[in-house]
Order: sequence, then C-alpha cells, then structure tokens
Amino acid sequence: MHLAKRILNVAPSATLALSNQTKALKAKGADVIDLSIGQPDFQTPKTIDEAAIAAIQAGNASFYTAATGIPELKQAISDRIFSQDGVRYPASQIVATTGAKFALYALFQVYLNPGDEVLIPVPYWVSYEEQIKLASGTPHLVMPSEGHKVSVDDLEAARTDKTRALIINSPQNPSGVVYTRTELTLIGNWALQHHILVITDDIYRDLIYNGTTFTAMISINPDIVANTVLISGVSKSYAMTGWRIGYAAGPEKLMQAMATFISHTTSNPAAVSEYAAVAALTGDQQIVETMRQAFEERLNLFYDLLAEIPGFDMGDKPQGAFYLFPNIKRAAQLSHYGTVDDFISALLAETGVAIVPGRAFGMPDHARISYCKDLDSLREAARRIREFVGK
Ligand code: PLP
Repeated sequence: MHLAKRILNVAPSATLALSNQTKALKAKGADVIDLSIGQPDFQTPKTIDEAAIAAIQAGNASFYTAATGIPELKQAISDRIFSQDGVRYPASQIVATTGAKFALYALFQVYLNPGDEVLIPVPYWVSYEEQIKLASGTPHLVMPSEGHKVSVDDLEAARTDKTRALIINSPQNPSGVVYTRTELTLIGNWALQHHILVITDDIYRDLIYNGTTFTAMISINPDIVANTVLISGVSKSYAMTGWRIGYAAGPEKLMQAMATFISHTTSNPAAVSEYAAVAALTGDQQIVETMRQAFEERLNLFYDLLAEIPGFDMGDKPQGAFYLFPNIKRAAQLSHYGTVDDFISALLAETGVAIVPGRAFGMPDHARISYCKDLDSLREAARRIREFVGK
C-alpha cells in the first residue's frame, strides 16, 4: 500500500501501543494493573458534566463555533492565565484547541520550515519529536549534563544557526522535575538573546507536590512573554482527557496563523467540550486541589515502596505531574534480562503490571511509572514488581 514518506518517518506512540497491549491482556481476563497511563483515573467532576449537559439542552452543542473557541472560553483562559501568572492576553492572542496536543501540532505546522531545529530537553514527552518531524522540522534532543533539567550551557552547546525553538515542559512528563524561577530566567533570557522561540508546555502546572513552587516562564518578564508560546489545557488538572480541550497563548501573528490552520483542519474544538471547559476554568477550584492531594499521597507512598525494590534507582522525588521515572537497569540485570525493554515486557506478561520503557522518552535505562491508580492498586503493583525482581 502506498503511504506518504511523512508518516513512514514517524514512530507510533509507544505509550498508546503499550496501552493497547494492556487492554488486550485485560480483555483476556488477566489481572492487570495499568501504570502506563498518562491520565487521571478520576471521573470528570459532576459540575463540569452538568454544565456540558446544560449546553446540549440549550442547543449550544449543535453548531460550529469560532475556530479558536467561543468567546466565553477565551475569556476564561485569559482570566485563568492572568490570575495565575499575571499576564493578560487579549482574545486575539489565545487559541483554544482540540487538546494541548493539537495546539502543539498546529504551532509546529505554522512555525517551522524544513530543516528548522527545535531543542527538546531529554527526557521528553513522546509526541514532541514526532510532531516536529511531521512539520518537516528537525528535533534536536538535548541531554542535560546533570539530572533531568537542561542548563543554559547544555542548550548553548546544542544551538546551531538553524535553532528556531526550545520546548520547556515543567512539570515534566516523564520525570516530574519542575524548573525554578532562576533556571527559567536564565533559559528565557538566553532564548531571547538568540531569537529562539520558547514553547512552554505547562499542562501539569496544577499538579505540584510537597510544597514545591511552580513558576511559569511567562511570569518572568514582558520580553520573555513576547518570545514565548504558552501551551496548556484542562485534561490533567480537571480529569478531562476525553473532552479534548487545550490552548495556546502567544504572539498575535503566530496565534492568527494557528487560527487559519485550525480553520482548515479541525474547524473548532468540539462545542460541548468548550462549554465544559468554561465550567472547569470558572467553577470552584477545590476539585483540582482534591485531586492534587490524592496524587500527592500516592506519590509519597509509591515512591517509598518502589525505592525499596532492589535495582530501582529512584533519583530525586518528582515534584509534579503523576509519574515516577526510575533508572531500572540494575533491576533488569538482577532479574537476568538483557535490556530494560525485555524486563518491562516480561513484567507485564508475568505479573500484569504495565509500565512504559524509558526509551520512548529518550532514556532507555529508565521506566515511566504512572501513579494514576488508587493506593491499594499501587501497593499491590509494588508487591508484584518486588516479587518479580527478587525471583
Ligand atoms: N503535553 C504533555 C507533556 C503531555 O503529557 C500531554 C498528554 O499526555 C499533553 C501535552 C497533551 O494533553 P492533551 O492533548 O490531553 O491536552
């Protein structure tokens, strides 16, 4: 079958592939604990569901909306960014999209020319690399010289005259690291100096633990704001992955180019989801805090349980998002597997515990382990992994 070169060059999403394998095992009746997932296990809060139902009943879900979102949603996004980070974006600088994933996709499509390079700190969320390739850009992976955060020196060593953008994802998927204000100031100023657009993916910003402070890149100074595109959405904070609402805020010219692109692709985000997102962003924010606290409790329990397993090198405790990202090379060796990938495959087949190979995030000795599960499931998963490694 004839296929475009563009897609042949792109690897399928490893997390989705694993999730399919896990679903197939479940369908066969296996007792699976799926820790490969990248979404809250909570239902969307009732108040948000009710707002969506009311929108349908009022007839608001029937029609196309403005390409970049209904005015109420853009206002809610603008208010949210202003209240959290102190920057007021007018509607012309905000684009609501079909998930943050599509905001990034549209951005790369309208910003990159063939050969333009985008710096991606390692480890990184799987889709950045493939989306950049789909836009004929060149992903340039940057390995931090220390830990999971890049420094200006790391970035400067990777910079070429083709470098057009840098992605900062804080809290980071998969490692959960959070960049400090000082680190972001240095990086933001460096990018400004070299005319490199900063794409800041803040989708996990509300999921921050154990007293860590989150700083947004856009809160540093107005020059950095003018050189930055903020990407975020409601998926992770409000348990709304299925609704598919994300957004971008940034320089008007770029946002208007995205609007044109969207008008010829998705037309607009699903109308009913836009109304649901307005309810999420403008309603009682205790729902976010309640879920955050549950994640924090899980993190603290699961990190300690996994740290007791031989060969699990946990590194520093993650400060945000909902993943652990240990180096498990020694655990694979202790269990007589040649690679971490083989270890993870056997773990799934023999114990039903699904985790994601770090290879998918640019670090093959690691594994991404989601804690989007209740405490009992996490205890049981830790028990099974421990038994498996000890065998
Ligand atoms: N950015 C990061 C770092 C993510 O982990 C995800 C989802 O897994 C997204 C963006 C996309 O989120 P959504 O498209 O659901 O808004």
